[in-house]
This record gives sequence, C-alpha cells and structure tokens, in this order.
Amino acid sequence: PDAAKPVSAPTPMIAQFLEIKAANSDSLLFYRMGDFYELFFSDAEIASKALGIALTKRGKHLDQDIPMCGVPVHAADDYLQKLISKGYRVAVCEQLEDPAEAKKRGSKSVVRRDVTRLVTPATITEEKLLDPSDTSYLVAVGRVKANGDVLALAWIDITTGQFRLMETDARRLLPDLMRIGPKEIVVAEPVYHDEILKPSFEQFGRAVSLQPAVLFDSATAAQKLAKFYGVQTTDSFGDFSRAELSAAAGALAYIEKTQIAERPSLQRPERESESSLLFIDPATRLNLELEKTLNGSRDGSLLKSIDRTVTGGGARLLAERLRAPLTDCGDINQRLDAVSFFLSEDDLGQKLRTLLKSMPDMPRAISRLSLNRGGPRDLAAISNGLKVTRSIFDVLSACEMLPQEIQSASDNLAMAPDDIHQLLERALGDELPLLKRDGGFVANGYNDELDEMRGLRDQSRRIIAELQAKYADDTGVKSLKIKHNNVLGYFIEVTALNAGPLTQTDEAKGKYIHRQSLANAMRFTTTELADLESKIASAAGRALAIELGVFDQLRDATVAEADGLRACAQAASVLDVTIALAELAGGQGYCRPIVDDSRVFNITAGRHPVVEQALRKQAGAPFVANDCDLSPRTDGDNEHGAIWVLTGPNMGGKSTFLRQNALIAIMAQIGSFVPAGAAHIGAIDRLFSRVGASDDLARGRSTFMVEMVETAAILNQAGPNSLVILDEIGRGTATFDGLSIAWATIEYLHEQNKCRTLFATHFHELTALSERHNRLANVTIKVKEWNGDVIFLHEVIHGAADRSYGVQVARLAGLPDAVVARAKHVLEELETQGRESKTATLIDDLPLFSTEIARAVENKSSKPVLTNNALNTALDDMTPDEMTPMQAMEALYKLKSIA
Ligand code: ADP
Repeated sequence: PDAAKPVSAPTPMIAQFLEIKAANSDSLLFYRMGDFYELFFSDAEIASKALGIALTKRGKHLDQDIPMCGVPVHAADDYLQKLISKGYRVAVCEQLEDPAEAKKRGSKSVVRRDVTRLVTPATITEEKLLDPSDTSYLVAVGRVKANGDVLALAWIDITTGQFRLMETDARRLLPDLMRIGPKEIVVAEPVYHDEILKPSFEQFGRAVSLQPAVLFDSATAAQKLAKFYGVQTTDSFGDFSRAELSAAAGALAYIEKTQIAERPSLQRPERESESSLLFIDPATRLNLELEKTLNGSRDGSLLKSIDRTVTGGGARLLAERLRAPLTDCGDINQRLDAVSFFLSEDDLGQKLRTLLKSMPDMPRAISRLSLNRGGPRDLAAISNGLKVTRSIFDVLSACEMLPQEIQSASDNLAMAPDDIHQLLERALGDELPLLKRDGGFVANGYNDELDEMRGLRDQSRRIIAELQAKYADDTGVKSLKIKHNNVLGYFIEVTALNAGPLTQTDEAKGKYIHRQSLANAMRFTTTELADLESKIASAAGRALAIELGVFDQLRDATVAEADGLRACAQAASVLDVTIALAELAGGQGYCRPIVDDSRVFNITAGRHPVVEQALRKQAGAPFVANDCDLSPRTDGDNEHGAIWVLTGPNMGGKSTFLRQNALIAIMAQIGSFVPAGAAHIGAIDRLFSRVGASDDLARGRSTFMVEMVETAAILNQAGPNSLVILDEIGRGTATFDGLSIAWATIEYLHEQNKCRTLFATHFHELTALSERHNRLANVTIKVKEWNGDVIFLHEVIHGAADRSYGVQVARLAGLPDAVVARAKHVLEELETQGRESKTATLIDDLPLFSTEIARAVENKSSKPVLTNNALNTALDDMTPDEMTPMQAMEALYKLKSIA
C-alpha cells in the first residue's frame, strides 16, 4: 500500500456514529436516518444475518467499505422483537432535531442524534412485542457483606408496574430465580464472579447483564428509591433490609439506564416472604414440566393444561400462582372457597366471564403511557377497562354473600377512578389511530379551539368544492378536477386535450399557474387555491397541536391514577383466575382438596392432569385413576409420613404415578381443585423430585452425576413437612452400586428426613426393606400376561412386583428376535441360579452369546462381524458395567477413532 497516501478522515456522520456506538458497545445501534434505522460495520453484519435482510455498503471508512443494513422505522418493532428474542440488545438512536436545523449551522454539520432508549429483553413494552400471558420480569441481585453475605432480589415488571423484594441466600438463589422466571437479570460484576454464585447465574446465559457495582450501592439506595417515587423517605413502604434496598436500587438504576429520559410508573415495592411459599427446587420445576415441557414447548405443560383464563392479566396471574404455590392453609382455603363459590354459582361466573372477555390489558397500557410510548388506543384501553370493571362491580354488588377473596376483589373495583373514566369517555373519539401523531382521536365537542380548527378545515374543503365548480364553469372544461397529493398539495387537473382554455390566453396564463405535465394530464394551481391550501394546512397543524396537548393532559391524568387502575386490573385478574379454575374443575371433574396443617397425604382415585387430557383427546383407553396414601404412621412418640416403594415394569406407569401426585399437591396449594376423587393434603413446605434423568454433558456431568447431585440436595434439605418423589435412583451406575445407593437413600429418608416419599425403583431387592422399616410400604403396578406378551393395566396395587418384564417390553420395542430369545435364556439362567453365581455363568456363556449374535447377523449379510484387531483389543478392555455414561461416551469416541 502507498504509505504516503493519507487515510481519509471519517465523515462527520460516521464520526458521530462511532462516538455513539462506543458509548453503547454492548448493543446493536439502530441509527436513525430519515425513515430508516441503519446499522453499520459489525452491527450490520450481525443484524443482516439475524434478520435475514440484505447487507449493503455505504461509503468508506479508513479506506474500507462500510457494511450497512437498514430497517424501515414503521416496521422496526418486528425487527426489534426478532433481535431481542435472539438475545441481542438494541440501542435506539434518534434524530434530536429537524434536519433543516442542522443545515442552518453549516453544510457539513450533522443532525444531532442520541440514544433515547435501550431495548433489552425485560424492558420492551410494545404490545406487539409482548406475550400477553407472560410476565416480563427484570431481576436485580443485591449483596451486602455484613456478618456473612446477605443476598436479596428485587424484581420489576415494567410492563405491569409490579415490584417485589425478598432476601435469599446462595443456596436458594437459583431456585428463587427460577421461580420468578426473569427475562433478564442484572447483577454487579463482583457478585456475578463470586465462585459460589456464578454457576447459578450461568444457567441464564445471555439474559444476565453485568453492571457496575455503584448502581447497587446500599448506602444511597434508600435515597434513590425515595427519589424515584418522589417522596421524602421510604419508611412508609415497609422495613427493608440493606441487601433488599441494594437490589431495589440496582433494578431502578438499570431501568433508568435503559429508558434514558422516561420513567415507568411502578407500584411501591412489596416484600415477599419465603416461608409463605412452597419451595420447589430447580430440577423439580423443570422435570415436572410446570410451565414448559423439557423440550421447551408450552403444549404439554401443566400450565397449558389447566389454563382457562380469558384475559392476559388472568393468564399472567395463573402462571405466577403456579410458580409460587402457597404454604399457608388459611390463604389456600380462601382461594379454594372462591373457586367453590363459582362452581355453585355457575350463572354468575359465566356472566362475569363474558364481561372479562372484553377486558383490555390495563397495566400494560399504563406502562406504555407512563413511558411516553403510548397511543390513543392505550387511553381507550383504560377507558374501556374501567367500563368493564364498573359492570363487573355492579354484578358483584348485587350478590348477597361473597367469599372473602371475591369480596376483596370487589372492594378494589369499588375504588376505580371513575372521574378518569368519565374524562376519557368524553375526550376520546370513536375511531382511534394507532399513533397520536396521526390525530383525529379527540372527540368533537371536547375542546372548543379544536372544534373551530376542524370547522375551518371542513369549511375550506367545501370552498374547494365550490372553486372546482367555478373553474370548470370559467374554463368550460367540465372534467376539471381539484385534487390533492403529498408532493403538490392541492392542484387543478385537466386532461392534456382539455388544457387549451387554461393556457392559451394571457389572462388564463396569469391565473392558472402551470405545475406539472403528465403524459395525458396537466396540473395547475391558482393564488386563490394556494392561499386556501395554506389556511387548511395551518388549521390542520393547529388542530394536531391541540390534540397532542389534549393527549398529554389525558395521559398525565391517567398515569396519576396508576395505582388505582392497577388495583382494578388486579382484581379483574383474580376474578378471571378464580372463575377459570372453577370452569376447569367443573369441566374435568376435579375435587376440592382438604388442605390443612397435618402431615396427611391421601389421594383417592388421583389422575395425571396432563396425561388424562391427552388420552381423552385421543379417545382411546381412559386414564386409570390410582390412590396414594403417604399419611403418617405412628413412629415412637411422633407421627411421620410414609414411604411408598413402587416397583413394576417399565412402561407400567410408574413415572406418571409419581408425577401426578406431585402435581396434585402443587395444584392444591395454588388453590385449585385437583384431578382426584378425594384428596387430603397436609400443606407441604418443600417439594423435591428426581425424575427423568437427562445427561448434562454440556457441563461435563454424566447422568449418574446429575442424579447424585440432585439426590444429595434432597437428602440435605427435605424435612418432615416435605414431599419427595424419587424415580429410579441408581440407574446410572453398575447394578450393585446402584442398588446400594438406592438402599441407603431409602433408609436415610426413613430415619432422618422423615418426609412423605414416593420411591420408584427397578431394584426388586428393595422391597425387602419394608420388613425392617415400619413406615415403608410396597406397591406395584398390575400387569397381565397374555400369550407371552404383557398388558399394562396401569393400576397401582399393594405388594411387590415379581418380575420386571423388561424382556417383554424389549420385544414390544422391536428388538431383533435373536436378542429377545437370548435375553430370555440368560434371564432364566440368572433366576434359577441366583445372582451370586451370575458372573461365572455369564463368562461361561459368553462365547455362545456372541455366536448367537453372529449367526443372526450372518443371516442378513455375509459381512464378517469384527475384523479389526485393535478394535477387538479395545473392546476387550472395556467393562460396560463399570462405566458411567460419560466414560461410555468417551469409549465410543475411541472405538470410532480406531475403526
Ligand atoms: P414407567 O415410568 O413405568 O416406564 P410411564 O409412567 O412412562 O411408565 O407410562 C408409560 C405409558 O403408560 C405412558 O405413555 C402413559 O400414557 C401410560 N400411562 C401411565 N399411567 C397411566 C394410567 N394411570 N392410565 C392410563 N395410561 C397410563
């Protein structure tokens, strides 16, 4: 390259871009240029790929082409959503002045621009970008080092204004985060990098945003909080710990950082207490598929199966309740009373439901309005929402005795800000544009000056019609028209053939000023028309300015009542959820559970809520209901929950049974009826489960390791009021290892944890434990044998399984006949000789075994089975019984490399 040639300096625009980009380096920069947001350099490369839009070039920087792509402003929402859902953050950079202003400063000067908003997963508010049935929490983690670390969480949903706080600790951090289900987590760098905490954060990947520690400063946190709410002190908010204040400050600071000049309207922070909530550990939350199935879909989750709500707010409330079931029997029974009430008052429920169906999403509209992102339709949402809540209130007021939960909802509705409703009804027109800048949303008769301007505009239109008639008369061109477009404004149009009378005489030429010639038309204007046009334009401009002023007034008045409006919306959501649960209970034949302070767990004819509905859809065999009784048996002076050891063939329904009982407990404790004939549950404080093992190879953990980590968590944490569900402990390792671990686990649960436990296992040896442990009972799944096949009856009965029917199941699964036959033979050998001599027998049998296989394979093709000597040696070196799945994987890779 020519060293002497100077590298050209960046253009002023690129210089501006680079400066703004440098200040927002962790975001893609949407740089506003007229009707487009443009992206440059690597942002352009990333965005064009992520959005599937064309990558082009624009100018040069340091003598290199500048990659560029752009999205039109009017369609920006869709593109934003795509980028956010792929985990990107976007900084939106707007033009802060009219380009004409910039020109006045000199030809080289660029339009002033700056970032007006950072768009991140938890800070989007656009209706189109949000899932109406999902919450959108931002969680901030605060930590104060006092006597040992104190951790706290603050979580805010800026789309609804919810704001909560609670203390947590290193062990509960992940479970608590999973319960809240945040879209985004903000955390100070040193906290994130804490060795003990880091693994919990890592689970959330890109959703974690590291922030400077000063944002979380606990010493100034209370002041920041007070400032945000415009109060002197936060004393009246409640008594918060320093860690909680630190978390709250961090959350607010992040919101201020992303919203720049705008402040969302938020509820005052409420403290949540951990003891009032059923603790569900992370593995259990995932494995029970409460909100999503293991493969991430909502279909097939418990939530999807039980959701009958009709409003966005109701759906969100149900999801929140499912994430955080209660432990207080009083609260649970209050909810259950409310569901019972609507079951018996079906007509009332249906009437309210019909009203609720037209209920707009008020909290989200308030959020947009408070952030200055709202439009006329958001005001209408408030107005209509108040109308609906008014009708609901009237219906409820006519009822004699309401259960407490419904009565308090009704009390909240009574406090609806009626004057806002009247104001909005009076001010808003019938047809509303999406954007306020389109105007036309203020009703006639609301503002005198506006009416006058509109009168002028309409009058001018009439005058134009008169002008058209006059010009047609004057020129004798009957087809003369006055038209309008955005380029010329108003103009006179005649066909080219008819242009003569407007152009041929001097007088005509003086009057009709030529503007444009088209192929077969000519366009003119007149001074009269131009005057009229500017009058119309100024009237329209003035009208719009008045409308925007009215909008701001209405918005301010509405946002000032945010708390009352949110309380109304919350009351409507409570009604929606309650009626929806009554609808579910009625439709699915659920029963009201007895929930009390005992340690009873007695389910009669329980069903799995999801499997049952799936089977019903397939219209095949119905779900087989099963009992489960883990109620306390007397144990010395105390009463402790029982353990059921469940054996039975694979595919018999063990997992289904285990899960259904956990799900029934969860449903009962959110205050729902349950899929059972009868259910009595002493409120559970913690629910643990180890079901459905999956490899966590990404983190270098084998199935067995995952299983042991989860089992350890259970044995260390389960207490006398807990419910524990364990499926197939010890499967991931060699038989005797596994059996011994399962054995010791049961004994520990029986002697130490003393919790209600369901334990499914394929180790039939474990059934012998019931002789030594008085609270342990054996149950099994009934199977019918027929012509050598097994038929699963899915019925849980007392007793131990005599066999596991693995061979039959293998056959059903389509294993080659030779393998099935051989397996049967081996099994018979083992069963007659007892397991002690198994090794000897198997060694004796080995040659025969491989010949059997070889024969079977040879029948299909004449290919030699194993020819590679290295392969044979490697195979000989392996003892599958001693391997963990991780080692087995490695072994497979090794074999592959040899072959
Ligand atoms: P296991 O854990 O014993 O291998 P699963 O619980 O996975 O068995 O159940 C196997 C199959 O049997 C599932 O597909 C399920 O749909 C069906 N099933 C399980 N329990 C029942 C039941 N109580 N009634 C009807 N079908 C059932």
